[in-house]
This record gives sequence, C-alpha cells and structure tokens, in this order.
Amino acid sequence: MERVRPRREDFQRAVGRFPILHDLPPPALDALFERSTEILAGKDFFGTQGLEPSPDDLLDVAVLAALPVLNLGVDWYRGFHTFILYPAEFVADVEEMDEVGLIHSGPEIRAGEAWAHGPVVLAMDEVRSSGQGEGFNVVAHELAHQIDQLNGDMDGYPPLHEGMDRQQWASVFSAAWQRLQDEIQRGQEPTLDPYAAESPAEFFAVATEMYFDAPVWLHEQHPDMYTQLDQLYQMSKWFAKKD
Ligand SMILES: [Zn+2]
Repeated sequence: MERVRPRREDFQRAVGRFPILHDLPPPALDALFERSTEILAGKDFFGTQGLEPSPDDLLDVAVLAALPVLNLGVDWYRGFHTFILYPAEFVADVEEMDEVGLIHSGPEIRAGEAWAHGPVVLAMDEVRSSGQGEGFNVVAHELAHQIDQLNGDMDGYPPLHEGMDRQQWASVFSAAWQRLQDEIQRGQEPTLDPYAAESPAEFFAVATEMYFDAPVWLHEQHPDMYTQLDQLYQMSKWFAKKD
C-alpha cells in the first residue's frame, strides 16, 4: 500500500464529508491533518469482500480515526496495526461469554468490530454514515474499544490522564449506566443507544460516539459524563472562549 502523504486539498474534501469536523478551528484542522497522515503512514489498511479501498476511503477512515487521538497522539493506537475494510455491514460469527461463563455464539450483523489486540474492522458504508452529527460514529466507537483495552481488559475503564480521578470516573459512569438501565426498564426513550447497556465496554464506546458526534446533546443529557470524557479526549479546549 502506498505511503504518500495525503494532499491537503484531498484531506479538506474528506473533512467536508463529515459535518462534525466542520466547526474545528484552523489549528485543530492542522493537528487533524497531522494525525490523519500519521495514521495513514503507520497502520495497514486491507479491503475485503471485493472492496479495494480508494484513496478517499482511506482518508475517510483516517480523518475520523484522527479525531479521538487529536489531543492524545497516535501512540494511543499502539494496541493495533491494521484496519480491515468491508464494503458494507458484515455478518460476524459471534462468540461471547456472559457473566456466568456461558459462551453464546451466532451470526450478528455488525457495522464495526474491535478484536482484542486485533485489527479494527469497519464497514465503509457505515464509515460514510458516521460523523454526520447524528450520534452515529462507528470509527469513534471501535477506536474507543482500542483505547479501552490499552490498560488491559475491554471493560469501560480506559487509561486516564494524570490528575483524573479514577473513583469519579467510575461513579459517574456507574450512575449513567444505571440511568440507562432504568430508562430501558421503564420503557422511556433512552438517552443513549440501548446497545450501550450490553456491557461497560459498549457503554464507554457508545458514550465516546456521542461525545464526538453529538457533544451538545451529550453535554445536556449527561453533563457529568461529558466532563469525564472531555478530560480524557480534551476537545473543548479548541473551543474555549478567550476573554
Ligand atoms: Zn462495540
């Protein structure tokens, strides 16, 4: 696969395809360009099921993948080396262990998938539906799983920065988890995709999606969780008002 640095105008066109990137101030776009370039150079990209990824496909993945590590650096993606790209949603043969240790298996439709220390698997049609500001972002979701397992299990506890309070993270996420369970049980409109209720790992991945794709909404609905995620991902610093 070629390793050329993307042209800035091609990068800008990729940015143009994703509304969540439109409001980034120029210095943040410069940083996004650098991160995207590092991801394109440092990771392998393979198409499967007949997909031969075009340069624009790679850029679409790269600009969305650059966002979660915009302020953290691509070293936070050191746990994986490869993106596998499908043309469309794929059927995964799932084997899952539940709390009591039973293995459940069966086909399940997936938009993306993050294997433990394995490749990040994405469906390109879902990549193109991501980043539209509607709370759907399969790239942020799968990469949140990668960040989550940097410190061990995929369990909703990513590595936190110095100065962040682990207890506070746990209590904020526990409260938000409980709220989602209550909303689902009462039959109320859930404030997060009910898929988040599958496990703490999925909860963190879905919350990350919302943080990047619908931050205003997340801030309104879950201000404490927004604050924790903002301490981790640090996006609000680009928008801080200077007096
Ligand atoms: Zn997930």
